[in-house]
Amino acid sequence: MALDTEPKTTQPKTTNMTAYIFFNQEHNLLLCKVHQCAVPSKFIYRHFLDEHDLDLKVRQEIINYASQLCTAEASELVYAPHKVLPVPYLSVVDGFICQYKECNKVLGTLASMKWHCKVDHTWKAKDGEKWTETRAQTFFQGNNNKRYVNLGWRKLI
Ligand SMILES: [Zn+2]
Ligand SMILES: [Zn+2]
Repeated sequence: MALDTEPKTTQPKTTNMTAYIFFNQEHNLLLCKVHQCAVPSKFIYRHFLDEHDLDLKVRQEIINYASQLCTAEASELVYAPHKVLPVPYLSVVDGFICQYKECNKVLGTLASMKWHCKVDHTWKAKDGEKWTETRAQTFFQGNNNKRYVNLGWRKLI
C-alpha cells in the first residue's frame, strides 16, 4: 500500500461515515468532523456533495443517517452565558468576552466586540478595554449564524 504517494491536500478516502459525521446529543447537532462545524440538516446533502470528495456509498450513508435525525437550527441554539466545556469536533478559536456586568457575550473578533460594547453598553474608546480574550467555539460558520460560546480559557501570551 503506497499511502504516502497520495497528495496531501486530498482527504483520505474511507468507506465509513463515522470518519465524517458526529451527532452531538447535548446540542442536537450534526457535526462535520473534517470542517469542525455543525451542518444543519437541510444542508447535509449540499455540504457532503460540495465540500467533500466522497464515495457515493458513504454520502448516501450520511444522508440516510441524517434524515433520521431532527437536528437544531442555528436560531434554536441557546448559548450559555457561563463557561462551557469544549464540544468535541468543533474548532477552537481566539475570541473576546464582554466584561460588562452579567453580559458575558462572546464574539470572535475585536471589531465585533467593540461594536457590541458601543451599541449595547454605550461604550466609548476612552473607557478602555471592557473585554478579555478567551478561547471560544462556534457551531455554525457564516456571518448570520456565527455565535460563540465561551470556553473560559484566556489566551496564553
Ligand atoms: Zn465537512
Ligand atoms: Zn456586553
